[in-house]
Amino acid sequence: MNQNFPFERPASPQIALELFTLPIEEINLVLVDGPTVDAAEPFIAGCERCDQDAEISFDYLLDELTGSDPSRTEYLMYRVARCPRCQAEVTEKTLIIPE
Ligand SMILES: [Zn+2]
Repeated sequence: MNQNFPFERPASPQIALELFTLPIEEINLVLVDGPTVDAAEPFIAGCERCDQDAEISFDYLLDELTGSDPSRTEYLMYRVARCPRCQAEVTEKTLIIPE
């Protein structure tokens, strides 16, 4: 319900740029299944709702977990993650503070 498109985020113009400059066949779309979301949640120390210092996109953490190339990978999450601190929804583009 809380869809954040990367190109609407002034904080990450780089991502929007890459989306438009990469040919579609070079974008690696990764489906993040439930267990992977479970594995990622403990690495969230805070999110943009409960901490104004959050400045790392959640998909950066997914890059680390899945070993994917950040410059060409987009994620589709099976379910939204939850911030352990404030229980807010965390989507691929939510800004977080990593643990
Ligand atoms: Zn939070």
